Formats: sequence, structure tokens, C-alpha cells
Amino acid sequence: MYNPSSTHADEFIDHAEVLETLAEAGRESRNRTRVREILNKAALCKGLSHREAAILLDCDDPELEAQLYALAGEIKHKFYGNRIVLFAPLYLSNYCINGCVYCPYHMKNKHIARKKLTQEEVRAEVIALQDMGHKRLAIEAGEDPRNNPIEYILECIDTIYSVHHKNGDIRRVNVNIAATTVENYRRLKEAGIGTYILFQETYNKKSYLELHPTGPKHDYDYHTEAMDRAMEGGIDDVGLGVLFGLEGYQYEFAGLLMHAEHLEAVHGVGPHTISVPRVKHADDIDPDVFDNSLSDELFKKIIACIRIAVPYTGMIISTRESEQVRGEVLELGISQISGASRTSVGGYTEAERPHDSEQFDVSDQRTLDEVVNWLMQNGHIPSFCTACYREGRTGDRFMSLCKSGQILNCCHPNALMTLTEYLIDYASPETRARGFAMIEEELQKIPHEKVRAIAAQHIADIKSSNRRDFRF
Ligand code: SAM
Repeated sequence: MYNPSSTHADEFIDHAEVLETLAEAGRESRNRTRVREILNKAALCKGLSHREAAILLDCDDPELEAQLYALAGEIKHKFYGNRIVLFAPLYLSNYCINGCVYCPYHMKNKHIARKKLTQEEVRAEVIALQDMGHKRLAIEAGEDPRNNPIEYILECIDTIYSVHHKNGDIRRVNVNIAATTVENYRRLKEAGIGTYILFQETYNKKSYLELHPTGPKHDYDYHTEAMDRAMEGGIDDVGLGVLFGLEGYQYEFAGLLMHAEHLEAVHGVGPHTISVPRVKHADDIDPDVFDNSLSDELFKKIIACIRIAVPYTGMIISTRESEQVRGEVLELGISQISGASRTSVGGYTEAERPHDSEQFDVSDQRTLDEVVNWLMQNGHIPSFCTACYREGRTGDRFMSLCKSGQILNCCHPNALMTLTEYLIDYASPETRARGFAMIEEELQKIPHEKVRAIAAQHIADIKSSNRRDFRF
């Protein structure tokens, strides 16, 4: 029986409820009056239920679709302005005992090079990332209690935070590791992590069991209930996602929103982020084997529908996607992107992108400087801000600020100040010139006079090498 407040995966992602949602969407998506009502409700920016959002996703009336895209863009601007937060993944180890059929780390893959970074190598990778200008990382590892136990992950987090190379430092470490125990989540929280990210891969239990035939990840309930344990362990920012292409997209879309509703119902706070990875070619993996691949058009529509269904949730897109697709979805709801990613263990210290331990092919292969410059050319402010997390604005404290629109008073000036740091320390002359011009213009848009004056002063201080650790 469907029950969003239940702590049992089978009840908060109830299969029958998903099927009824899809059946209702099939019927109602042709009812223009109903679709208009849902769009009007969405325009209030308070979100939509999974049932309502599924109807929008199914609607293919061109006029209503155009309204949907316009609304997604408006909501994005209302809550996130024109800022885009930048981050990079850091692969620690690709040792893995799972059998995930879409992932090259699967245990039976004998020809992928298995690697695990030593602490010295972690340090070297972090220096390389700091030298590009990164301040925020997402650490990634396969699941292998012998090679990558929680103690190893915790040691790596300590090492990452301890490296201060030139003006660089990593100020927020998000963690994407396998589902674990409440006690281990507590230890991750104590280590100072930002968001705990775990992709569901698919919400369809039957497919999930087939796609994860062996290893601890085979346990659907343990995986699906991981975010509840993470929250019980004190982590209040969690990141959801599915790997699009494995299952039918309507099922995944409904499942994602039901998961978000469940977290809100039980913990009083929804997901901090939602990621939208699509399955890619990788060593030993042919994405064409999965017959649910999505066209770019559908992919964009899903992103727009997520944006209006959960307006306060950040949305992340990785370098799995091309420059073209990334550019388009920035207008529809994406608020964070990775830049200059290497998906191989030890990849940042290699001159050429190594392929032997890569997790998947990277489509967007530009440097961070190129990505920053491109964002600004398209009117987005690249932000290296990590202030919310460092000021304790996480979980429901972040959400209530976000819901009231107040976050704009902090994020906009913080984005401009961290962009100034980037421009001074790491940017090419062309990017720096474009950035300074943008900052001058954007400063004038800060409504609060006092905040504007403080931000302007701090930006002047950064330019004259007088750094103070200041953030709104
Ligand atoms: N071991 C952790 C776990 O089980 O969640 C971390 C996972 S992995 C480093 C990060 C994500 O990469 C996975 O959750 C999966 O969604 C994604 N991934 C795996 N194989 C992929 C592929 N061939 N193409 C695109 N993404 C892939």
C-alpha cells in the first residue's frame, strides 16, 4: 500500500501507485483544461505532486509544452537567479564487488585497470584540482569493504580538506559512495561532508534486481532506504538521481518525485539536489544494450518537469552531456554543473585524459576556464560558492531560506566574490576581462544597498590581494 510516510521502500515507492500514476497521466495529459490547471498551480512555485507532474510530462500539446518550458525557466530564475555552481568529481577507487551490468567497475570486468589512490596521490589530485580553480568536489568510489572501507573514505576526506595549495582550498566535499549504515553516515557527517549523493539507478524493483544481479547493491530495499539512514545519521543534505536509459523514463520520473515526497513527509526536508545522468558508453559497457535511451528532447522535458515539480531542489548535470545539451538545460532548471571532469582514478594528474580506469566517456571535454568563459558568454554567473554549508545553512534551514526567496540575497553576492577569487587566481586573460565586466554589471543588481557596498568592498579587497574569509 502506498504510504509516503512509511520507512519501507516498497510502501513509499509503491509499484501499484507508480503504475496508477502512469495510467492517469496517459488519460489526463490530453485534457487541456486539466493540464492548464496544473500549470497554473505550478506557477505558484510551491511544487507539484508526482501525479500532477506525471501528467505534464506526458502532455505533448505543443502550445502547453511551450508554456511548460517557459515556466521552468521562470522558476529557475526566481530561485537560482543566473548563478551556476561549479564542481568536479574526484574518483578515489574503482575497486568494486558489485555486479551492476551498466557500470564498468562491475566485479567481472577483468580488463579495466583497478586503482585506488594513496593519500599522497589524493593530495596530488587535489592540488591539480585547486590549480584549475575548483573549490567543491564530489568524491566517488566503487563499493568494496576490503579495498575502500569507510575508514579509507574518511581518511581521504581529511586529506582533501587539509590541502591548501597557493590560494586554493576545497571548501565542500560531497560524497557519492554506496549505501551504508547509520553509523557510517554519522562518521561522514562528522568528517564535514556537504551532500551525500546516491543514485537510485532505477526505482523499478524488478529491473533493479536484474541490473544489480550480485553484490551488496542487489538489496533494493537497503539501497532505496539509504537516504533515511543518512538523515538519521545527521546528514541533512541528500542528493537523489536515477540513471536514465535503464528503465522507462515515466516510471523513473514518478519514482524520483515519490522519493522526494517521502523525504519531505518523514524528515521535513526534501532532497538538496537531483542529478540527471544518462547511461554512457564505457569499458565493457555498450549503452545500446539498454533499450530505454532518451532523446535529447525528452531529456530536456524531464528536466523542465523536475524543475517545476520541486522548485527548491538544486539540479545537477555532469560532463556525460555535451556542451550543446548542457547549454540548453541550463535554461530549464539545472543549477550545478561539473567542469573539466576526469572520471578515471588519478586522472587529474595525467596530462592526457586516461581511459584505462574511466567510469564512462566524457562528452564535454573543455577546460574549467573554457566552461567558465562559456557560462558568462551565455549570461550565467559561474559560482564557486560554498557559503551555505560553511554557515550551517543546510537541510531545513537552507530550504526555508530558499522557499522564502531570501537565498538570492546571499547567493548572488557570494557568487560574485568567489568568481573574483577564481578570476584573479586561475583565469586566462580573456576570461578575466569578461568576468570583471560581468561582475561590475551584476553588482549593480544587488537590491540591498548595504549588501552591495560590502560585496563591492570585498571584491576590491580580493583584487588587491587583501583576502579575508568573508561570506554572506
Ligand atoms: N558505488 C557507488 C554507488 O553504488 O552508488 C558510487 C557510484 S558511481 C562512482 C556513480 C554513478 O555513476 C552510479 O551511481 C551510476 O549511476 C553512474 N554510472 C555507472 N555506470 C555508468 C555509465 N556506463 N554511464 C553513465 N553513468 C554511469
